[in-house]
Amino acid sequence: MGTLTDKVTCSNSNLRAGSPDLAAVKMIDIEQVATALGIDVLPGHRATCLHPERHKHHDAHPSVHIDRKRNKWKCFVCNDPAASNIDLVMEALHVDFPQAIRWICERFEVPPAKPGRPIGAKNKWQCRPLHAGWTSDPIDVIVRSGVMAKLTPAHWKVLQVLVTLREVDTNSLELSYNLIQHYTGLSSRSTISEAVRALSEEWHMIMVVPGPYIDGKRFTNRYILTFDDPRFIALRDQAYSAMRAQWERDSVFRGEERLRRKKECIALLSNTGRSVH
Ligand SMILES: [Zn+2]
Repeated sequence: MGTLTDKVTCSNSNLRAGSPDLAAVKMIDIEQVATALGIDVLPGHRATCLHPERHKHHDAHPSVHIDRKRNKWKCFVCNDPAASNIDLVMEALHVDFPQAIRWICERFEVPPAKPGRPIGAKNKWQCRPLHAGWTSDPIDVIVRSGVMAKLTPAHWKVLQVLVTLREVDTNSLELSYNLIQHYTGLSSRSTISEAVRALSEEWHMIMVVPGPYIDGKRFTNRYILTFDDPRFIALRDQAYSAMRAQWERDSVFRGEERLRRKKECIALLSNTGRSVH
């Protein structure tokens, strides 16, 4: 049981970069995790309780049943809720959740989670401007970076259609103006043409490969999405810095405004002779 004292030092921030995929961690065989912890897994998927002091004869007849299907650990005498492999590590090593994840990741192969989201990140965190790392979803990046705010409604509509309908393997698509009109609801072909020009020449988010002329007829253009173009990346980062600076100014302003209103309120109340706490 030497590994039980193998304490892990790790903080939440260590997990931010290349966070492991939590769902994949939970799928790691709990019997293998128990074995790595130095716990003897007995035939019939049984084991001795981690709290033998709660048992008669120190759990001489092992009371833990390992549920293979649910990948859970349960002592029927203690009757605590069934434990996941992460719970088991936390319990056995007296470590917290991130430390348990870290311990597992050091011993088992775990694929990384999507970039940009620390373990356990909740939606609340996502509402604020992102400070590090962009997801692989272009619309997500365009919204969070503040680029969307700089696009006209027509640019935004055309871009969303191209991103949504793109073939993921080639990151491109062929689409006629008729279909762009159909999907965006933009009736004017010149509006679409202007949006395509802005997205390619000003923003460098798309590259247009004109379709060939055959028998005097223009074949459909191919649009390649180029969110990795350094020129777009520079514009994205610029928009993000501007948005973040604005957000911070607003935040200071809101704080000052609250203080000002509080002072006014106090002045008003003391003028009317009421005490203020
Ligand atoms: Zn027990």
